[in-house]
Amino acid sequence: MRIEIKDFQHKRILSAEVDLDDPPSLVRPVDGGDREVYLHWDQAIDDERHLRRCPVCGCGELFVRKDFPQVTGLLIVVLAAVIALVLFGARQQVWAFTVLGMVALIDTAIFVFAGRCLVCYRCRSEYRDLPIRADHPGWELATGEKYRSK
Ligand SMILES: [Zn+2]
Repeated sequence: MRIEIKDFQHKRILSAEVDLDDPPSLVRPVDGGDREVYLHWDQAIDDERHLRRCPVCGCGELFVRKDFPQVTGLLIVVLAAVIALVLFGARQQVWAFTVLGMVALIDTAIFVFAGRCLVCYRCRSEYRDLPIRADHPGWELATGEKYRSK
């Protein structure tokens, strides 16, 4: 499992590789650096090796999201919309629809092929390359509001 550890301001501290069979209580960055972070594994992993609790901050609520930079996805959509508008303006309807169709395809491909990762509501640390329950809930606004930094 790979952890992207964040602090309470959601700033990235370090990323670390962790063995779920023998989780370490202290991790150091994989890319060097001298920052160390203590992890708390009490009740963090259940019998099916699913993460139940954030070992960084102890928060018991995690959400699942598509592991794809959301900014990139938005950029693709905005760019395609602009191109399609220009093409519509130039009366190139076929090309405009082609562009829109391709974006729909890319969107579908991302949805199908992108992996999933778990994110902690409180500290926003991210967990990759681990078993995730098929029905693990995604982001919920009400829960997100509860942990919003004041
Ligand atoms: Zn956390």
